[in-house]
This record gives sequence, C-alpha cells and structure tokens, in this order.
Amino acid sequence: MFKKSIKAYEKACKVIPGGVDSPVRAFKSVGGTPPFIKKGKGAYIYDIDGNKYLDFVQSWGPLIFGHCDKDIEKVVIKTAKEGLSFGAPTNLETKLANEIVDMYDNIDKVRFVSSGTEATMSAIRLARGVTNKNDIIKFEGCYHGHSDSLLVQAGSGMATFGSPSSPGVPSDLTKHTLLCEYNNIAQLEKCFEESSDIACIIIEPIAGNMGLVPATEEFLVACRELCDKHGALLIFDEVMSGFRASLKGASGILKVQADILTFGKVIGAGMPVGAFASNKEIMSYLSPEGKIYQAGTLSGNPVAMAAGLESLKKLKANPKIYDDLSKKALRLVNGLKKVAKECNISLQVNTRGSMFGFFFCENEPKNFKEVGNCNFERFAKFHQEMLKRGFYFACSQYEAGFICTKITNKEIDDCIKAAKEVMKDL
Ligand code: PLP
Repeated sequence: MFKKSIKAYEKACKVIPGGVDSPVRAFKSVGGTPPFIKKGKGAYIYDIDGNKYLDFVQSWGPLIFGHCDKDIEKVVIKTAKEGLSFGAPTNLETKLANEIVDMYDNIDKVRFVSSGTEATMSAIRLARGVTNKNDIIKFEGCYHGHSDSLLVQAGSGMATFGSPSSPGVPSDLTKHTLLCEYNNIAQLEKCFEESSDIACIIIEPIAGNMGLVPATEEFLVACRELCDKHGALLIFDEVMSGFRASLKGASGILKVQADILTFGKVIGAGMPVGAFASNKEIMSYLSPEGKIYQAGTLSGNPVAMAAGLESLKKLKANPKIYDDLSKKALRLVNGLKKVAKECNISLQVNTRGSMFGFFFCENEPKNFKEVGNCNFERFAKFHQEMLKRGFYFACSQYEAGFICTKITNKEIDDCIKAAKEVMKDL
C-alpha cells in the first residue's frame, strides 16, 4: 500500500538528511515510512500511492478550514498574480495586524515574521531588551521552535540552568535559559529566588508539544504574579493555540493575560507566517522605532498575509465555528475513550477547542515527565494500524491533533469504529 512512498523516501534520503525537512515527518517514533503526500482536499489528504486519509494533522495546525478551502485558495491565487514579494510595505500587513489587534485588549501592535521559531526568538529578544535582563524561563516539554536559546528541554527535578538538547548549540548560548517543570509552582518560585536577572517566562499556555497538556489556572496565575513581582515579562506562545483553542486562542479561555503574544500556524492558513505582538510601549523598543533589531526579507509576505487575512475574516464572521469544532474534537476523544474502555485499555484524553490529544496511560499527564511514562509502543501500533485504515494521526504521542471545519460527525464516527477494531488487538 505504500510502495511508491517507500521508493520516494529512499530517493529523498539520498539528497535530504533523513529524507525530510523537519524531523518528526520521518515517522521515527511510530516506525514505517511516511506516506508522501500528493494533494489535499477538505478533511482529506492523498498520497502518491493513491491512498486517502482523514487528516487529523492539518499541516500541524494551520489549516483550520482544511485543505484547499475555496475562499483562501481564491485570494492566494489573486494575490500571487500581483507579485510574490516586494520587500516593501503593503496594506495587507496593516489589515492582518488590525484583525489581530482588534481581538485582544492587551495588544496594540504586531510584527510579522515567517515562522513560529522567528516569532518566539524575536519575542525573547524584545523581552530582554525591554527589561535589560538576560535569563529566560522555559518549561520542560514546551516547544517554541528551534532557535538556540530555546532548544532546551533536557533535565528535570529542580529548576536548572538548561543544557542544550541538540549538539551544535553551545552551552554558553543556553546558560541563560532556566528550565522548570510545567505546572510546578514551587520550582518556578525557586527560579525567581535564585536569579534576579529574569527577563521573561515563555510558556505554551496550552502545551501542544508534549501531547495536549493544558497549564492549570493556578499555575498561569503564579506565572503572572511572579513576573509582576520581579519585573519580568510574560510571553504566551500561541503559535499553535492562537485562533485554534478559541477565537482568541488560549488567552480567550484563560483569566491570565500575557505581556507579549506569539502567533503562527492559523494566522498564515498554511503559508509560512509567524508574528509577535504586545502593547505599544513594549513594541516601541523594536527597530526602527527603538533600538532592538529584528528583520526579515520575506516578513509580511503578501501572499501569506492575504491567506491569513481571509482565514481570520472567515473565523470572525462565524465564531460559531469554534463551538462546532470543539464538539467534534470532544466527539472524537470521547469516542476513543469509550472504545478503549471496552477493550480494557487505559486512555487519557483532552481537548481545547479544535486541539485534541490522547495518551495511553493510567492517569492524565500534567507535565513532560508524566507524558514520558505513557505507553509509546502501544501508541506506535495504534498509529500504524489507523494509518492502514485511512486515518492520519500525528506520528508521535508528543504531538497534538487538530480538527478542521470540513470534517463531519459521520467521519469521526467511522474513525472511532476503526479505532475499536484496532484497540481490540493492542
Ligand atoms: N511555538 C509553538 C507552540 C509551536 O507549536 C511551534 C511549532 O510547532 C513553534 C513555536 C515553532 O513554529 P515553526 O515550526 O513555524 O517555526
């Protein structure tokens, strides 16, 4: 069933390291060869062998309207015909910035970049420049892209100055990254006791990079209070949750507000986009208004801006979409939980808006260490068997899943039926 994909993968491996341009795509944690995708339509993707899959990945989140949405396709083609990039300002950037600013009371200005990695990297530079401090706090299991000082996950127990989790990142570059356990207030307090040089906390308020593990309300309140007490800034990395968890992302469903927000994924509707945003005072530190340098040849790319703009307009015009997406995400995970129970398998499930996650374990994981104790072998087998039956889930238990507007209840029920068949033999 994967004959052509296997060949394509072999060919790719000869000229691309590991055959992929982003490691998770190689299917290493679930085994087998990744299907090479030919096209997508609505809730489905099709591989080069002619297999059709119901897509619960949606390009890792950006495609809230599914593949080849008619309206987005139309504006992308129209805009592309007028030129792909100018390296000069366009009205599209202002329009998209306005759409984002209008959503949030705590945001006045937005700067666009080309990826989530750039968004978080730049947000941290901004926080350091504004506070004139050096240390940053990040949490185990939160992913903020692959910039050097954020590539720190290893180490657990007490808060430690992070050691890099990749060769090629000198420890000198991560010595200012303090690592704490997610949802652990005591560790966070200790961090602030140990350093008086903390510029910011960066957090995924709904972590989607260790499976789906939301921060508790008390934990986020502690983040806010400690930042205020010690003159640090709070950054919510909403690259994944922005316009996904709700119309206002995680910020829309939480009481705590951040000083700086980062975005990506949905605001580009599948085109390469990222952004960071804050109030006008903080943003005034950025070049050319202020002295903190940040730039990009393709930043604010017109085609990407047009795609994002159309996507946000559609979401705002019909906010009921979020009720529908949330219901469908719940229908899926509750269905999976039910069939798991019938098969005597412990399954923990979670959703936030159209984001969902499931873990093969006894108790709901609250941090990275607990996620690490889940049954990865079982997940891999589940993934392989569901793929054979035409259901494309994220290829790692450390990843969240996504529902798009094009998916129907019937398709979700078919998925649950297939899952029952698979779980009987897990
Ligand atoms: N922040 C979060 C929360 C993410 O989920 C990701 C990517 O998955 C990033 C940042 C990095 O974004 P990108 O892959 O566009 O660089």
